[in-house]
Amino acid sequence: MKLAFTSEEEAFRDEVRAFFDASLTDELREAGRLMTSVYSDKEVALAWQKILLDKGWLVPSWPREYGGTGWTLTQRYIFACERARARPPALSPMGLSMLGPALLGRGTQAQKDHYLPRILSGEDFWCQGYSEPQAGSDLAGLQCQAIRDGDHYVLHGTKIWTTHAQFANRMFCLVRTGRFERPQQGVSFLLVDMEDPGVRCDPIRFVSGCATQCTVYFDNVRVPVSEIVGEENEGWSVTKYLLEFERGGGAAAPGLLEAIGHARMLLELLPEADRSGPARRLDDLQVQVHSLELTELRTLSETERTGSPGPASSLLKIQGSELSQAISEVAVELIGLHGMPFQPEAYALGNNVSAVGPEDGVTTVPFYLNNRAASIYAGSNEIQRNIISKAVLGL
Ligand SMILES: Cc1cc2nc3c(=O)[nH]c(=O)nc-3n(C[C@H](O)[C@H](O)[C@H](O)COP(=O)(O)OP(=O)(O)OC[C@H]3O[C@@H](n4cnc5c(N)ncnc54)[C@H](O)[C@@H]3O)c2cc1C
Repeated sequence: MKLAFTSEEEAFRDEVRAFFDASLTDELREAGRLMTSVYSDKEVALAWQKILLDKGWLVPSWPREYGGTGWTLTQRYIFACERARARPPALSPMGLSMLGPALLGRGTQAQKDHYLPRILSGEDFWCQGYSEPQAGSDLAGLQCQAIRDGDHYVLHGTKIWTTHAQFANRMFCLVRTGRFERPQQGVSFLLVDMEDPGVRCDPIRFVSGCATQCTVYFDNVRVPVSEIVGEENEGWSVTKYLLEFERGGGAAAPGLLEAIGHARMLLELLPEADRSGPARRLDDLQVQVHSLELTELRTLSETERTGSPGPASSLLKIQGSELSQAISEVAVELIGLHGMPFQPEAYALGNNVSAVGPEDGVTTVPFYLNNRAASIYAGSNEIQRNIISKAVLGL
């Protein structure tokens, strides 16, 4: 078995690397470096999105006629590695990686024609309205109601933890349109206009100081029936399909390897005699990330064949999030006292405030705190283990 790139693949890697080097402005690089979670601010994310769109590299895995690149699996992997190396701002995944694939798989032609170009251009900025105050892990218990009134649904209810709801002009959400014996039945998948006067968003401030998620209230929000994806009461199947893309099917390992490399630089902050313990933990994590990398490559190849990652996405979600948390734990230990000052103004974009202490002291602790949520969002890791026990182990 030969585990080296061909000369064509090496040339492709050079091309991608040169593109990142040339296209990332100082401001975009700064935004990538100052990220304290998996999200970037809307404006900077859209600026980077436009550059990728102009280059034709925004949605490599989409079908070519909708903007995909037609790259091989290896090319997509090389792209992911180079992106991790360059650390650009993160693109919002809600439209590009979640709703887009769901519409491609389950949307009507009219929905594809209308929404896919607007996802690419950023004209529509989407949020995901699944969770409710009483329905998170038990998502099928959702209560947000959509009552049919002529050619509209009328929405009443509350969504919670909705990432970027305060910036989004559209939400894809799950609502209850019927009551049946199985709670999964009677759920519909709707596309909602966030500019409707009946929508209210209240940001939630997290322990890190960030307010990226919101509570969203619907009061008499009218949604045309043409905005349903899939059949009425059958939205659960659309959701299951979409969640596979949310949970896995990408390439987290290259970013994790970069994070380990970054944590290794923090070793310098310790006296030489104290470095060997944390260095060994980073070595151990690196081995685990390489093993994740192989599973990701296998899943990418499976996704290319079958069209969706399937239950492997649960396994990737658990491993990716737990490794990321373990790496950020080591980073916090290494940054030590330098991480104690709370200085959000120093990681706000466009700031002219100098950090107190080393630059990494500014972002390491907020990143660690935000990253506690990685084992909760997109379905908690306990729920992913339940899925594996049923869908893979047949328990
Ligand atoms: C940063 C962040 C961003 C988010 N973004 C979004 C978003 O954009 N859109 C959206 O819709 N939601 C979003 N969420 C919500 C997220 O999907 C839910 O928080 C998650 O599904 C867990 O639901 P819950 O918070 O209601 O916890 P609960 O469901 O109440 O769970 C509490 C605890 O019990 C455990 N548990 C529950 N049931 C079981 C079981 N059957 N077996 C074993 N253990 C169980 C859980 O693992 C968890 O540890 C986000 C959450 C966070 C933290």
